[in-house]
Amino acid sequence: MQTKNKLNGECLCGKVSWEMHGPYEFFGICQCSRCRKVTGAAFATNLFVKPEQFSWLSGKNKRGEYILSPPNTFGNAFCNNCGSRVPRQTARGWMLAPLGSTMELPDIDPTLVCPEDHTDWFTNLEEILKKGK
Ligand SMILES: [Zn+2]
Ligand SMILES: [Zn+2]
Repeated sequence: MQTKNKLNGECLCGKVSWEMHGPYEFFGICQCSRCRKVTGAAFATNLFVKPEQFSWLSGKNKRGEYILSPPNTFGNAFCNNCGSRVPRQTARGWMLAPLGSTMELPDIDPTLVCPEDHTDWFTNLEEILKKGK
């Protein structure tokens, strides 16, 4: 699959959609307990872009947000209709997009975040990632 500099994403029901373009700042695969809870999966896939590289195509006002109380900087944004994770602006000003909602391949490699904090039933992600290349 060819990597792309311009990516599109949408939620499960399609009401919330967006596009973004590189250069991408960071593509994090995070296995921490918060990311597992917020996704219901073994890890989250988060692509970070500058706000000027990101545009809403539809449904910006059909989103909900949940942000943990300070000093936490963790939160979640979701489609009010289908509950899928959708992008949100982080406290540091980045747009954080759940890359699992994008069908195209970004032209940036993932970085494993929090490698020590993972589930017991899903381990050795670094080896799995290496084998996939
Ligand atoms: Zn939706
Ligand atoms: Zn995390």
